[in-house]
Amino acid sequence: MKNVVLLGSTGSIGTSTLKVVEDFPDRLRLIGLAAGSNATLLAEQALKHGVGAVVIHDLSKRSELETRLGNQVRVGCGPDALIELATLPEADVVLIAIVGTGGLQPALAAIRAGKDIAVASKEILVMAGELVMREARLHGVRVLAVDSEHSAIFQCLDGKPIETVRNLWLTASGGPFRTTPKSDFPQITLAQALKHPSWVMGRKITIDSATLFNKGLEMIEARWLFDVGMDRVKVVVHPQSIIHSMVEFVDGSWLAQLSSPDMCLPIQVALCYPDRPANPRVQTNLARIGSLTFEEPDEDRFPSLGLARRAGETGGTLPAVFNAANEVAVERFCAGTLRFSEIAGWVERVINLHRVVQDPSLEAILQADAWARTA
Ligand code: NDP
Repeated sequence: MKNVVLLGSTGSIGTSTLKVVEDFPDRLRLIGLAAGSNATLLAEQALKHGVGAVVIHDLSKRSELETRLGNQVRVGCGPDALIELATLPEADVVLIAIVGTGGLQPALAAIRAGKDIAVASKEILVMAGELVMREARLHGVRVLAVDSEHSAIFQCLDGKPIETVRNLWLTASGGPFRTTPKSDFPQITLAQALKHPSWVMGRKITIDSATLFNKGLEMIEARWLFDVGMDRVKVVVHPQSIIHSMVEFVDGSWLAQLSSPDMCLPIQVALCYPDRPANPRVQTNLARIGSLTFEEPDEDRFPSLGLARRAGETGGTLPAVFNAANEVAVERFCAGTLRFSEIAGWVERVINLHRVVQDPSLEAILQADAWARTA
């Protein structure tokens, strides 16, 4: 039995994680949940799963949560409470699915407390991949990928040394504008950008999938998770989203991981690792899918990939700035103050302005993140 703490339980990954926990009552037990402001759903989840402790970020929702939970469940609020939850003595694994940068400090605290972490929040490895992986090695804990692409690579590698790898191939669906001409990009609306062709996800990652910034963030995430240079992290567009990613080995052989797109599968792989228990939830019928196709990404229409490569190769504080500038640009697009076609330009402007600090401490990373949000 593994005791699981879930940060971001009310979101898209969070609710899928609860389904996986329900699939394996003999293996997985939830002991702590955290959310941003959705007190109603958080309380419902805590009562249903008999969770002992919950944390809510939004202080104004604390009393509502306490009223809903009575004195059956310990209620905390704010960043310190989140760290306390991530380091509960009885926790074995902490799954982090908080959108944005709020998961970084709890992730580091969990690692230092000797917990395995399962990472959905890619911001953690993009901002502080070097630091997080170093701390994980130091404390002898696992960093398990929840992102479907990284889970696929992890499953294909299956412990093989990274020297056996020629390239890691991240697949990208191409998003809703895969075939849209560049001349139409300035007119793209929020409603159009929120219609992802193959995945149902939270709002931020859905916009990032439309700009391909999501793939850029994943390139940097892969670089740290698997300890390879950015030159060996490649992207290929695969509109069917059946191959979740691939490894090309030095002898010319490729391994791929396939399944219908359902985040429950990579979540199960991470939470049940190293076991692979049976679950009928995900079924894949290749004959019905018919064909799997591949295309070169168009870096002229989607400059996010080139910017990510530059941020990942430069390293230091630049990936944190890349991530924060993109968050701001997405917020502005959602608010109607930036066009879809201006998102990449916004990020490029901010990373051009940044004076990179190499080998940054956590403080330097957080400072760079804060700077990028006002640049
Ligand atoms: P959602 O927007 O659906 O959910 C975000 C979750 O984070 C919610 O539970 C939200 O609570 C919670 N939250 C926000 N701020 C805080 C905070 N300060 N403290 C505690 N909880 C907080 O996002 P997704 O589930 O789509 O994505 C989560 C992360 O996983 C992102 O980093 C994303 O890139 C990554 N990811 C997502 C995938 C997907 O398929 N959705 C695939 C791979 C990675 P509330 O509901 O109360 O606001």
